Amino acid sequence: PVVVLRLGHRPGRDERMTTHVGLTARALGADRLVLEDAAAGRKETVTDITDRFGGPFEVEVTDRPLGRLRSWDGAIAHLTMYGQPVQDREDEIRTAHRDEPLLVVVGAEKVPFEVYERADFNVGVTNQPHSEIAALAVFLDRLFEGRELDRTWEDAEKRVVPKAAGKRVVDLDDEA
Ligand code: SAM
Repeated sequence: PVVVLRLGHRPGRDERMTTHVGLTARALGADRLVLEDAAAGRKETVTDITDRFGGPFEVEVTDRPLGRLRSWDGAIAHLTMYGQPVQDREDEIRTAHRDEPLLVVVGAEKVPFEVYERADFNVGVTNQPHSEIAALAVFLDRLFEGRELDRTWEDAEKRVVPKAAGKRVVDLDDEA
């Protein structure tokens, strides 16, 4: 599995960012999101989308986010603008992920130095400052080599029918 650990959350300022880290993790193929206590209020929004549009996708809240990192039994990829180019390390990350769970760490503001030390891979999606949401999206797409775009969703109540123009959403109970 692929687990996204969102480190840091400034109440007020980071609400939508943290929600969007979760929605992006879910939409692009991760299995689980771990939030710290300060972000607990964001859990329901992401869970609500999963209930309506399908999963599986889990959201967990922890009071010890660094503890999760320390006790992680698997590979750790930390997304940071200071890291090595994702395109240079993606093969190794994919290989590691074949054999063991992968923890993907994204920050909100400055991430403790311990994260850089614990990570097996510190990778940058470019070495330019941008956003954890954008970095996560590109990273997951590289990891899954685009296959996440074609996945099927389980236990969805609703499904969007792709259209060249306009909007169509079907209720899956009606469709059955
Ligand atoms: N200056 C901050 C620092 O010391 O890390 C950057 C904070 S940035 C607003 C929030 C998060 O976005 C970072 O923790 C990192 O996970 C992610 N991020 C931003 N730019 C990135 C990049 N070029 N590549 C990978 N991740 C990036």
